[in-house]
Amino acid sequence: MISGMCVRCGGRIAALQKESVVREKARQLSDQASYPVIYRMLKGIVLCGVCLDALPLIGHDICRQCGRDRELQASIGNEGLCRDCFHGEDDQILVANRSLLRYEKGEKDLLGLFKYRGDERLALYYGTLLAITVQRYYRSMGFTWITMVPLHPQRLRERGFNQVDLLAGHLGAAIKIPVKPLLLRTKDTPKLSKQKGRAARHESMREAFVWDGQDVPVPSAAKILLLDDIYTTGSTLRSCAKTIREHLGPSCEVYSLTIYR
Ligand SMILES: [Zn+2]
Ligand SMILES: [Zn+2]
Repeated sequence: MISGMCVRCGGRIAALQKESVVREKARQLSDQASYPVIYRMLKGIVLCGVCLDALPLIGHDICRQCGRDRELQASIGNEGLCRDCFHGEDDQILVANRSLLRYEKGEKDLLGLFKYRGDERLALYYGTLLAITVQRYYRSMGFTWITMVPLHPQRLRERGFNQVDLLAGHLGAAIKIPVKPLLLRTKDTPKLSKQKGRAARHESMREAFVWDGQDVPVPSAAKILLLDDIYTTGSTLRSCAKTIREHLGPSCEVYSLTIYR
C-alpha cells in the first residue's frame, strides 16, 4: 500500500514498510494513554519509514524550563535546568517551552523551504509534529487559546504569509483549541544570523511586541499556548509572553511550543 510522497526525501511512502517504525516511534513518544493518538498521527504523517526513523527527536531527559535535549548539554545537572536556564532570570514570564526536534543541519533546508514558500504539505507536516508535541508534553494542560509569534507587518507584506499562522491553523484543528492572534510586532528586528550573542538578541527583542487582541474577551486565568517555529535563545518568546501577561494579568500563564530547539 502506497500513500503519497515523503516531504523530506520525495520518495514514495510505503505504508506497510513504515508500520514498524511508526510503532517504535509512537512508543518512544508516548505513555499508555497517549499511544493511540500519537500512533495515529505518525501513521498519517507525510514521511516515509526511513525519514521518520531519522527524525532528530529530543530525548526523554530534557531541561524542565526550555525543553532542550540534555544529551546536548553535558553540564546540565542544576535542578533539572540547562546551563542557560540556570543562569537566566527565573521570573516565570514563560512557564516552560517544549519542542519536538533538535535543530540539526539537515533540518535547516526543510524549514527554510517552508518559511519562504509556505508549502502547504510542509505546513501540514509541521502542524502534525506540533500536535504530537502537545500530546507528548502538554496533554492535560487545557489551554484557553493558541497564539502565534507575529511577523512585522512589513515582512508580512513581502512574504505574503506568516508561516507560524499556517502551523497554528493545522495545530488548532488537530487539538481542537481556538487560535487567536493577540500580538503585533512593532520592531522589525534584524535577522537572527546578523545578531551577535544572547545579550544582543535580548536587547533587540525588548518592547518588540504590543497587544493586538482587540475583540478578545479577557478570561480570569487564561492559559496560552504560544507558537513559533524555533526556540533559539528564547528572547522572542519571552518578549511575547511578557506583553500577553501585561495585558491579561499575572494569573495568566504562557507556555511555548516550537518545532525545533
Ligand atoms: Zn523519506
Ligand atoms: Zn534550559
